[in-house]
Amino acid sequence: MIDFELSDEQRDLVAHVRRYLAKEILPDVQRCDSASTPLPEAFAKLAELGVVGLPFPQAYGGAGLDYVTLGLICEELEYCDTSLRTMMSVHIGLAGCGIYQWGTQEQKQRFLRPLAAGEKLGAFGLTEPDAGSDAGAIRSTARRDGDAYVLNGSKLWISCATQADTFLMFAKTDPAAGKRGISAFVIERQDAGSALHTFAIKDKYGVRAGDTGGLSFSDLRVPVANRLGEEGEGFHIAMTALENGRYTVAAGATGLTRACVDASVKYAQERTTFGVPIGRHQLIQEMIAQMTAGYEASRLLYLRAGWMKNNGLRNTRETALAKWFACDTSNKAADDALEIHGAYGFSDEYPVARFLRNSRGAVIYEGSREIQKLMHGEYALGYRTDKPVRCELPAWKGQR
Ligand SMILES: Cc1cc2nc3c(=O)[nH]c(=O)nc-3n(C[C@H](O)[C@H](O)[C@H](O)COP(=O)(O)OP(=O)(O)OC[C@H]3O[C@@H](n4cnc5c(N)ncnc54)[C@H](O)[C@@H]3O)c2cc1C
Repeated sequence: MIDFELSDEQRDLVAHVRRYLAKEILPDVQRCDSASTPLPEAFAKLAELGVVGLPFPQAYGGAGLDYVTLGLICEELEYCDTSLRTMMSVHIGLAGCGIYQWGTQEQKQRFLRPLAAGEKLGAFGLTEPDAGSDAGAIRSTARRDGDAYVLNGSKLWISCATQADTFLMFAKTDPAAGKRGISAFVIERQDAGSALHTFAIKDKYGVRAGDTGGLSFSDLRVPVANRLGEEGEGFHIAMTALENGRYTVAAGATGLTRACVDASVKYAQERTTFGVPIGRHQLIQEMIAQMTAGYEASRLLYLRAGWMKNNGLRNTRETALAKWFACDTSNKAADDALEIHGAYGFSDEYPVARFLRNSRGAVIYEGSREIQKLMHGEYALGYRTDKPVRCELPAWKGQR
């Protein structure tokens, strides 16, 4: 049976989140983006809204809601601003779901509970100055020393780097073993002290109202109890975390496309050329029609992936497809939205220049456009299949 209806609870929550964001956050977005200043109290506001622990069981301080609802909320967040959804992607999708999927009971109580309760902000540290798409090439090391590991290295292009409290971080315990030598660690800023340094990246092309930065760590001692999974399992942990992150990115990009549609429709009805609103010109209609089709297709793709997550079905291919399609679609929609706004689109007087800059990052991160094309080419040709992983993301079995 296929059911396209949202529940009353989902509809009510979406409406509540939409109203809250419009009142509490949207008024600051353009100013912060223009000034390249992080949105004030963004994480505290999302915590107040009750969404920062959305898919985690109440036993771990979460809201116990399902993955489809998580997607719907990410769509709303990015409709408001990409920086909000980015925060949710790293906090819930990458760090939170990573710990939820791979952590021991004790680790979930220690590390996941404060994240889900909104007491701490999570982030994800995989990328390094010399390793992005080729994550197996990371150089950070973790040397075992008694009941601890000693971490040395650096990370770059880390969302929420300067604001996060808890990092799901990756380093090599066996540098000679390539990607099989990577292990995952939970790093708490409060315990790391001066051995962990974080910094912001200035003059970014997009997500200017968000925090993107880097980390460096020198002789950072991390207790063995903070290692997630087994030694050498870090690459699998990173890839499964990215699968959950990609889901939130796909849903968010869908919201950005909707924002492009709304801004374009409004402007096309107001602006006149040659004696008629520009919406009467068929070439403008064509761009808006493509945006609406892209929005609906993106939404169906991410909702299917969310449904598969709810039901505990492997969704690596479907989630990656949703991410690739939705991000390319939002990038094209934002470019067309700017075109529809003419020269005004080229300024901060309208939001579409921000939409275009913000749409670009997600085409690169969590599997770039090229990496996605390679993946889906391999799936189609039968060169790639999804194998079971040792720990699956728990399915959703009703309120939990
Ligand atoms: C705004 C933003 C936020 C980010 N947040 C995070 C975060 O929170 N945590 C984190 O760990 N990382 C984060 N990243 C980093 C992101 O994941 C990497 O940028 C991404 O993986 C690409 O790596 P790279 O930039 O090193 O590019 P490279 O891997 O060096 O790639 C360069 C180019 O080559 C292409 N390419 C690479 N390999 C192939 C191939 N085999 N075939 C064809 N083309 C190829 C790529 O598609 C790209 O076009 C973020 C990046 C951005 C821009």
